[in-house]
Amino acid sequence: MAQNKMESFDAIILGAGACGLMCAVQAGYLGKRVLLLEKGPDAGAKIKISGGGRCNYTNLEVSTENFISENPHFANSTFSQWTVDDTLNFFEQFGIKGQEKTLGQIFPVSNKATDIVNVFTAQLAEMQIPIQYQFEMQSIAKLNDQHFEIKGTVNGKQQQFLGRNVVVATGGFPIPKMGATGMAFDIAKQFDIKTTKHAPALVPLVIGLQDRSWYEKLSGISVFAKVSNERISFEENILFTHWGLSGPAILQISSYWKGAESFEIDLLPNVNLKTLISKERNEQGGKLLSTLLQFYLPKKLVDAFAEELPLDIKLASLSNDSVNKIHQTINHFLVKPAGDKGYEKAEVMRGGIDTNELSSKTLASKLHPNLFFGGECVDVTGWLGGYNFQWAWASGYVIAQNI
Ligand SMILES: Cc1cc2nc3c(=O)[nH]c(=O)nc-3n(C[C@H](O)[C@H](O)[C@H](O)COP(=O)(O)OP(=O)(O)OC[C@H]3O[C@@H](n4cnc5c(N)ncnc54)[C@H](O)[C@@H]3O)c2cc1C
Repeated sequence: MAQNKMESFDAIILGAGACGLMCAVQAGYLGKRVLLLEKGPDAGAKIKISGGGRCNYTNLEVSTENFISENPHFANSTFSQWTVDDTLNFFEQFGIKGQEKTLGQIFPVSNKATDIVNVFTAQLAEMQIPIQYQFEMQSIAKLNDQHFEIKGTVNGKQQQFLGRNVVVATGGFPIPKMGATGMAFDIAKQFDIKTTKHAPALVPLVIGLQDRSWYEKLSGISVFAKVSNERISFEENILFTHWGLSGPAILQISSYWKGAESFEIDLLPNVNLKTLISKERNEQGGKLLSTLLQFYLPKKLVDAFAEELPLDIKLASLSNDSVNKIHQTINHFLVKPAGDKGYEKAEVMRGGIDTNELSSKTLASKLHPNLFFGGECVDVTGWLGGYNFQWAWASGYVIAQNI
């Protein structure tokens, strides 16, 4: 354990989350002496709650297309050094088999996120890698080109450590009640390292008060949909809530949503209503529009369109204008959120340490080659689906090779 005297390490890793834990364990395999400093009372807190407690720890198809960054190709080198197979094999050697749930998303067969955290804590214990919990950092200073000095307290007791390298793996702002901090931004500022604008991502979207009652009626309804803006589209479920929209497709588009923009939801992505109604008009002209729509959509959702659409009219009696309106309303449902649920509900942070400031090969700061940044605090933000953990593991591995 870290003691109340000046100890020196090959690297001090700030943050015992996904990136910091992988970095510490990989550094341990290389025989490097590292220390983990964690503000919280335990390791891997976000891993434990991830994927609804089941941890979607990687994805079978990872490419830079699944990430948002001001420099989209920055992560290529990291992902070529630590691949999806490396993640699968790493956990498998500790008895964790992965299973694909959907869209390449891999979860442990046990469905227990704690199994993932236990791999790391067991490895840290076996290699006797020290980890200091409840560490409140007070200062970080570069003593010379060789060392950083970190000072802080644990339960009010002063501690200080020397490290040849410092790894910043303190994550982003999401879920402040779990102790998320802006430590990476503070350190970047102190060392003149640029950061990009940050914002909540993979976050539910809130509808303005004027339209809220329409959504309230639908709260709890989930449908498969295609959600698109000019830049991208996602086909997954959406969930209506009493304040707006959530569900995987909404979380995905939220990462590409710039406030005040509208986007489109195709509530029947596999059915073009214009084509369908034209066909059904001839074959089953006596059918009511509501009957047709209820075949594809939940009744409550169909009923919610009673004001806009002629639900009680027979298909044969629908004018072409009506058919166009039905098609627009259901296949091109327009949404203009008033905001998002913020960092309290976001799964990740978009933006962070500017990748132009880091070596893509080592993730070291170009200005301060023994200062490294990995995981969520870097401006590399993954889609929903295990991509963020793949980035955290991969960046932790790459940094461990270079400290
Ligand atoms: C509800 C939820 C579900 C998620 N589900 C998934 C999923 O299924 N799949 C997926 O790929 N991603 C998921 N994510 C995202 C994923 O958890 C993060 O991308 C990932 O944990 C980032 O790893 P990290 O190591 O960079 O940061 P973190 O895992 O957040 O770790 C950072 C660590 O640093 C510590 N720390 C912070 N400030 C300080 C400080 N000042 N001093 C010392 N320590 C500090 C924190 O306490 C924390 O332990 C989810 C996120 C949330 C919130």
